[in-house]
Amino acid sequence: MARTAARDLVEVAPGVLVATARAYTTTSTVLVADDATCVLVDPAVTPADLDGLAAAVAERDLTVLGGVSTHPHWDHVVWSRALGDVPRWATPAACEAARRERAHLVRDADAEAPGHDVALLARLTPHRAGPLPWCTEALLVEHGAHAPGAAVVVVPAARALLAGDLLSDLEVPLLDLADADPVTTYLTALDRVEELVHEHDVRVVVPGHGHRADRAETLRRLAADRAYLGALTGRGEVDDERLADPWLRSEHERQVAAVRAR
Ligand SMILES: [Zn+2]
Repeated sequence: MARTAARDLVEVAPGVLVATARAYTTTSTVLVADDATCVLVDPAVTPADLDGLAAAVAERDLTVLGGVSTHPHWDHVVWSRALGDVPRWATPAACEAARRERAHLVRDADAEAPGHDVALLARLTPHRAGPLPWCTEALLVEHGAHAPGAAVVVVPAARALLAGDLLSDLEVPLLDLADADPVTTYLTALDRVEELVHEHDVRVVVPGHGHRADRAETLRRLAADRAYLGALTGRGEVDDERLADPWLRSEHERQVAAVRAR
């Protein structure tokens, strides 16, 4: 069997290694502790991407202790046997949504990135907010915007925050339209993330899709996301350069229709 090439991992902060996939500029983050154990946050996207991630981890002699899914969307809940038989943590609400939506997640994964091990898809273990059971402190902080039970991961020692699908330079805020008040939930989540950035003196933010941000760029994205959400609830046109992408434009139009119909 041909060996899969190891993916490039970029160290964006001490012990925080990021691989970026071609599809949707999706990031997968490897959190490495001093004892060469690691936790994989949102490993993605295609089966080949996962094998390449497994090869990159093996190349560094790292032992995978677990995974984290920041939220229950298909591209954040895939897994491969090559990554090991370990728990994959998510908030209890995210686990419940993944269980409820499992058929949809399988269908979406199959449509967008065929060939995943369906038996492993969305097999998540509930972890209540707070430190992950791992030797370096990493905090799972639930905010519930974008998807049920969605969370960010803060690594205080590295001054890093993994934002899941928040704070992207490529994607406007994408709402969980099943939420009773998705815009307020999202704005509250942005406030919480900003608090975390200050509380932990965060220097690097890694979004689930897009490029990493330093402190100044993080504050710029927070402002851009708040401006987008403010415009969404108004009556006028929404001006945001991220809407140049046709897929985001169509998601945006869906959001406008849903939010303004309330
Ligand atoms: Zn998502």
